[in-house]
Amino acid sequence: MALIKDILRTMDYGPSPESSEHVLSWLERHKAGFGLFINGRFTNPGALFDVFNPATGERIAGATQGSPADIDAAVTAARRAQPKWAALSGYGRAKHLYALARHVQKRERFLAVLETIDNGKPIRESRDIDVPLVARHFYHHAGWASLVDSEFPGTRPVGVCGQIIPWNFPLLMLAWKIAPALAAGNSVVLKPAEYTPLTALAFAEICVEAGLPAGVVNIVTGDGATGAALVAHAGVDKIAFTGSTEVGRAIRKATAGTGKKLSLELGGKSPFVVFDDADLDSAVEGVVDAIWFNQGQVCCAGSRLLAAEGIADAMYAKLRARMAKLRAGDPLDKSTDVGAIVAPVQLERIERLMREGAAEGLDFWRADDVLPNRGCFYPPTLVTGVEPASILAREEIFGPVLVASTFRTPDEAVALANNTRYGLAASVWTENVNRAFEVAARLKAGVVWINSTNLFDAASGFGGYRESGFGREGGREGLIEYRAPDAPKGKPYPPAAAPLIASPGLTPSQESAGGLDRTAKLYVGGKQTRPDSGYSYAVLDPRGNEVGLAGLGNPKDVRNAVEAAAKASSWGAATAHNRAQVLYYVAENLSARAGEFARRLRTMTGASARAAEAEVETSVRRAFFYAGFADKFDGAIHATRSRFVTLAMNEPWGIMGIVCPNEAPLLSLVSLVMPAVAMGNCVVVVPSSLHPLSATDFYSILDTSDVPAGVVNIVTGETNALAATLAEHDGVDALWYVGDHPGAAKVEALSAGNLKATWLTTTQPDWSRAEGREFLSRAVQVKNIWTPYGE
Ligand code: NDP
Repeated sequence: MALIKDILRTMDYGPSPESSEHVLSWLERHKAGFGLFINGRFTNPGALFDVFNPATGERIAGATQGSPADIDAAVTAARRAQPKWAALSGYGRAKHLYALARHVQKRERFLAVLETIDNGKPIRESRDIDVPLVARHFYHHAGWASLVDSEFPGTRPVGVCGQIIPWNFPLLMLAWKIAPALAAGNSVVLKPAEYTPLTALAFAEICVEAGLPAGVVNIVTGDGATGAALVAHAGVDKIAFTGSTEVGRAIRKATAGTGKKLSLELGGKSPFVVFDDADLDSAVEGVVDAIWFNQGQVCCAGSRLLAAEGIADAMYAKLRARMAKLRAGDPLDKSTDVGAIVAPVQLERIERLMREGAAEGLDFWRADDVLPNRGCFYPPTLVTGVEPASILAREEIFGPVLVASTFRTPDEAVALANNTRYGLAASVWTENVNRAFEVAARLKAGVVWINSTNLFDAASGFGGYRESGFGREGGREGLIEYRAPDAPKGKPYPPAAAPLIASPGLTPSQESAGGLDRTAKLYVGGKQTRPDSGYSYAVLDPRGNEVGLAGLGNPKDVRNAVEAAAKASSWGAATAHNRAQVLYYVAENLSARAGEFARRLRTMTGASARAAEAEVETSVRRAFFYAGFADKFDGAIHATRSRFVTLAMNEPWGIMGIVCPNEAPLLSLVSLVMPAVAMGNCVVVVPSSLHPLSATDFYSILDTSDVPAGVVNIVTGETNALAATLAEHDGVDALWYVGDHPGAAKVEALSAGNLKATWLTTTQPDWSRAEGREFLSRAVQVKNIWTPYGE
């Protein structure tokens, strides 16, 4: 035993291992292998896969490889249980969620040790962060269970939710998925990651202990094939997935056209921006929490350090000094900072990426710490002088590797920070509050931490922009993902009309020679433009008489329109008051020309005078409604941690595609375009293909109402073909589609490229009532900005 005088000389920590006795005896009791948890009971163990302790490489358990038949049994149990669960009062469900929270708390130490043994994360993290947050999630959502009916009127539970989670926060991800699903009245089938199934199985025991009704929670262990079977099962109404962007994209494709709701929480390459006026010591501690927390195996890890040129060397020096003090080793030791990498495959992935970085000549720095001579470990690493094009700056390493580069100006910092396909999180360090908020607003990320990092709370939404996925987990934003609108009442849309027949129209030379061109043009970048194809199509009244010609837009026209929309991005930065004024002007001008628009509707659609006038009147009212809302659809301040303000800001998507149906050609267009532009988006609209002339008349209203060029772009033509181009276009951030089922399915499948958010309507709404907050909330994504206060 070390003598006190020696300890005082070196000030080294002695070993302080957490006891694993209870966990080991629990594992011993299950040495025959774990079954699946279906309908409130464990099945007999089936074909087993091995589960290892990554810190030692030892096999610690066997878990059952769930088959498609097992998934079917679990979904059947969940289907049976769901109506009764949903029929409980909110308070009835809340009691169950409270019970789960309390049982998690009672088993806190056990769960923390089990998580550490299964995953390799330091016990300090599983004990102080993961498990307390699990309990917090169940408590928070117990509250939502009581409130969901009054807070989300007009909605119902989605039904059976298939939930697939990764290995980096096994129990916490389970809580993030199960707590809101149950609170909202759903039942679940959850598949944990193959490397880390054990805390989910312990949670299944908690469900039994806490008296949760059978079938409400089902847990099926297995590999990616088990996950794929869950995604494919027809009895599942929603898939919630956390994991790699690659698998997220495959799931988007697999669920396309099935009607399954989907939320994806995917990878990231989050920037950690340090300005020259930052408190460097705090920023260095921030880096430790950003990239060495959980060995960097964190989707929102601050893995890209961007340091102001003037302080970069000082920052690196402080970082190296701090890295030399990080203790890597036995995760069960309470003084370990850096534990084990989850599995040899993940370690090899980190090593491969680092070899590729080394081949680019990058400069690596590591402290001379000795890693354990067994198990899966990788040392904390700093890589400096990294160019934006380097593989290490682009790819998610998912390991304890910080890549650093410098910037000169705030603009450059923002450009570098946003130079990624991801958009999950960001961290900004500066003592200047003005700069902090300005940069936070300009960062493309779902979560921004100011002078802090990697903070989570059940009351705050978490989720990404761009290829980091869509949907939020946590708080009000997360709960809505587990509700569906009350059953739609309308009829399904009939298949799109027969292909439009192209006619060449008049050539420019004929036109200049005195011919009269009646072709309504496209409207792109504030100008009337000829379609790229040079073709138009005849717009017919119900008796088949031609009432005009409309441009036959093609993919090139859509691309031009997206480019024009991108140039108008300052619309999103205009004050909401300015946007409101412009939209009032649109409404006023439409009102002033109501008679003309009604006549157009009558000749084009054959509507009665009364019906046409009513459609215009409702369109005017709707335009006023969204003009009024432009400066009132506020975000929220979430009650998260003490001494933090967590601002949930509604931000526009950027560029939205909007595909309109044939019926109510003016009203549907106004109902869809107005909320989108009121929230600051620029839009590319495909109007009714059969009755496009109300839309082409509408651009004269836009012209006279001070709508800046490029904010609304109109491309007429074959709706489903143009919708497909919009879905495939990586410059389009979100897409609303109203039309037939095949068109909707194609939109979902093709939107997997940049993982754009889609909103599909395949049953005919009552357009006279189609307005409200849902349209506004679909027109924004929420960014949560965490700001500490106090000295
Ligand atoms: P995956 O995306 O493969 O795994 C996440 C979950 O999805 C696991 O439960 C996995 O099962 C399951 N799964 C795998 N394939 C399918 C499929 N086709 N259909 C349905 N479910 C499926 O991530 P990995 O674990 O393979 O990690 C790879 C990389 O992904 C990491 O290096 C990291 O970069 C990133 N990642 C990101 C995470 C995040 O939080 N954003 C979390 C984890 C990883 P199984 O475990 O059995 O393979």
